[in-house]
Order: sequence, then C-alpha cells, then structure tokens
Amino acid sequence: MLLKFPLQRFLIYLTVTLIGTLVLNYFSNAVISNVPAIAPILFPTLTIFLMVFHTMIAVFMVMKYSCDKRRLYLMPIAFAFATSALLMLGTLKSYPDWFLCGGVTDANYNDALIFFVFRNILMAILFMASVILYVFKLREMHSRKIHFFILSAIVIFCACVMELAWLYSSNNPLLHVTFIDNVTFKYTNVWSQLISWSMVGIWVVTLILILLITQLRNIFWYSGAFFCACYTFTIFVLMTGQETASYSWYQARLFETIATLFLIFVLFCDVFTLYRQSNAKYRDSYQNSIRDPLTRLYNRSYFYDSFTTLLPTIANGQPVSVIVSDLDHFKRINDKYGHLQGDKVIQFVAKVLQDSVRQNDVAARIGGEEFALLLVNTSPEVARTIAERIRLAISQHDTQSSHAQLPESITISMGVFTAVDLSVPVEECVRRADEAMYRAKAAGRNRVVVWEK
Ligand code: GH3
Ligand code: MG
Ligand code: MG
Repeated sequence: MLLKFPLQRFLIYLTVTLIGTLVLNYFSNAVISNVPAIAPILFPTLTIFLMVFHTMIAVFMVMKYSCDKRRLYLMPIAFAFATSALLMLGTLKSYPDWFLCGGVTDANYNDALIFFVFRNILMAILFMASVILYVFKLREMHSRKIHFFILSAIVIFCACVMELAWLYSSNNPLLHVTFIDNVTFKYTNVWSQLISWSMVGIWVVTLILILLITQLRNIFWYSGAFFCACYTFTIFVLMTGQETASYSWYQARLFETIATLFLIFVLFCDVFTLYRQSNAKYRDSYQNSIRDPLTRLYNRSYFYDSFTTLLPTIANGQPVSVIVSDLDHFKRINDKYGHLQGDKVIQFVAKVLQDSVRQNDVAARIGGEEFALLLVNTSPEVARTIAERIRLAISQHDTQSSHAQLPESITISMGVFTAVDLSVPVEECVRRADEAMYRAKAAGRNRVVVWEK
C-alpha cells in the first residue's frame, strides 16, 4: 500500500503542514511572548473559543452526514469534537474564577491537563475509527442496523471517556493521577516521561493511518492529517515548558485554537466546493433536460414551453414567426449510407440552423429530421427571407464544404407561419407552419411556403 502512495499529494501535505505549523507557531509565539505578563484569564477564554469551534465542527459533520448517509465515517469525528467540547466544560471548571474580572486565583492545572489528555486520546481514537469507516464507505456496506450499531458504540465510548476523565480529575477522590503539582506548578514525571510521549505516539499513529488509508484523496483528509500534525505539535509545545506558568502552557492553547479555526476555514471551503459542484451539476442536468442529445438544439417540449411564454409579447405589436422544416428524402440517405452517416447529416443541418438565428430565437429538433425555429419579433416577410437563406445555405453545401458531414448534397422543405395576434393558440401556430411545410413537399420539395388560408 505504501508503494502505491501518491507522492505528489504527500509532498503537498508535507509542505503545507510544515509552512502551516511554522506560521501558526510563529504567530502564537509572537502573540504570547511579546507581552510582559499573561492575563490568567487568557487560558479559559481560549478554551471557550475552542469549545465553540469544536461544537461548530461537530454540527457541521452531523449536517454533512445527514445530507449523505454514506458518510458514516463523519460521525466519529462529529462525536470527537462534540465530546471534546463537553470535556472542555471540565477544563473550565478547573478555572472556577474564570468569569471574574479580577482574574484567576484558584486554578486547578492538574485537572485542566487531565481533561486535555482524555480529550486527545478520545479524538485520536475516533479519528482512527473514522478512517476505518472510510474504507467501508468506499465499499458501500451500509444498512440502518450497522449505522445504529456503530453510532451506539461511539456514544458508549464517548460516555466512558467522559466518565473516566471525570473520575481521574479531582472531582472524585477514589481515582487520581497527578500530571502537574498544583502547589509548585511543575509537571510530574508521569506526564513528561510517559503520558506526553504516549500522546505524541497516538497522534502519529492516527496520522500514519490517515495518510495510508485515505491517501489524502480530498481536502477533508488533508485537513484531518493537518489537524493530527497540529495536535502532535501542540503536545511538543506543552513539553517545552517546565511549569504551567510558562509561556508554553498558553501558547499550546493558542496554537490549538488557531489550528482549529484553520480547520473550520477548510470545512467552509469544502462546503463552497460542494455548492459549486452541485450548482454545475444542476446546470448540466437542466441543459440536458431541455436539449436534444444528438444536436444540442432545444427539444420539442422546451420549444412549446418557450412559445407559450413568448406568445404574450405579440400583444406589444411584436409578431412571432414559426418555421417548421423537414429534410427531403432523408430515408434514402439512411438506406444508402447508414444511420451513423444519417446522424451526421442531422447534426450538420442543426448547426446551420443554430448559426442562422439570433440569441433570443429558439432552434429546436422536434422530430427525427424535423426542426422548428421560433423567431422573436419577426414579420412574415422577414421570416420568409430567413427561411430562404437557410434553405439555400443547406442546398449549396456538398461533401467537401461540409467536411464530409454530408455524403451528398441535401435539400430541406420549410413552412412558415407568423402569429400577429393572440387569436391563434400555440398548437395551431405550429400546425399551420407544419401544413405549409407539407405544401412545400407536395409542390416538389426544396422550397419555402408561407401559410395561407
Ligand atoms: P420526405 O422528403 O417526404 O420528408 O422523405 P423522407 O425520406 O425524409 O421521409 P420522412 O421525413 O418521413 O423520413 C424520416 C426518416 O428519418 C425516417 C427515419 O429513418 C429517419 N430518422 C428519424 N430520426 C433519425 C435519427 O435520429 N437519425 C437518423 N439517422 N435517422 C433518423
Ligand atoms: Mg423528411
Ligand atoms: Mg420527417
């Protein structure tokens, strides 16, 4: 699998991550280290921001999943961020005076770090679960039962992690662990030698899983991998400090907040990309629904619809002309040269028709080798002139001038009818133009006939 890894994506990821983390690090460093003293309120304030961002990401993921149920792999990530936001309530509780203007006087740094550790473990494990589910998404193995089972498992897992975080914090006297001595503010060996490195390890494993399994197929997994790198880096920043009062404690939180904000921007980009794609798909499918696939002229139903829409303009003294045309002896072309060549002839004529009308006019294929033109604000005289011009243009083409689209010269018969008032309904207008066309056929073909009573 590693051999198949797309090197280019990997290099882009590496470059973006390196530049991204360096810029974020520089920024967070500049903000924190250029101030003479840090207001203790900064940490809980950033935590509140982070809580809001994580909640937003969770909501975003749930919405995306509800739009497309094949994306079950988004739900572990949704729960990861939602539970992370809930665990941050524990962090805030460790700073009981955070809402007081006078600053923090009674912070429980150990509890804050315990919640941070459980948050990280939870998120990394759920990210891994998401990657594994992503493999199944590709295989499309989904049923309601499986969704229910997996979602229940995730809920139970999140509840357990929250419970454990609560039990290990100072809220419960039975279980306890010390990562920071709350008197000296120094990190204990458990943190610096075991937990911090384990957390780096778990994030690195998550990152490797994302890289190998998703192969960074889209911007979503790019940002997931970037997120893993940022969290690994956050822990490194935390490890550089010897005590909680040091800059690293605040810088780590600021870095985490900015990295999360960056992830939100990426998700917004994802939404707009999807919006653009679905808009383009809608435009394409709309065009396909109103156009004939062989010639790309408008189809019969669009022709009638636009005629109905156009008809009221006649009341403003703007006549509408209809020209119905049918190729002469077309069966013979099919019989002699085959259907494929027949199609090329139809396409060629369609192109001539399309090029002969204005942008507001409608050129449509209403039958096999029958076409109709709708000419806006066009009098009977002008309509006849246009029809004559088209008839002549078609009859003058030969194999050479048509670049072999025509196996031999062909002709067309055309009938013209102009609606000058609202007394004639749409169907009758077309029927009259059709009648005129049949008169042209009867009169010897290759001619234009204007309808008369
Ligand atoms: P006329 O001068 O009286 O119109 O004679 P004609 O042979 O053209 O007669 P008609 O208009 O009735 O013939 C229609 C023929 O067009 C019949 C059918 O084989 C052919 N045709 C219809 N649709 C297509 C198509 O999509 N592709 C091709 N190659 N032929 C088609
Ligand atoms: Mg014909
Ligand atoms: Mg026909």
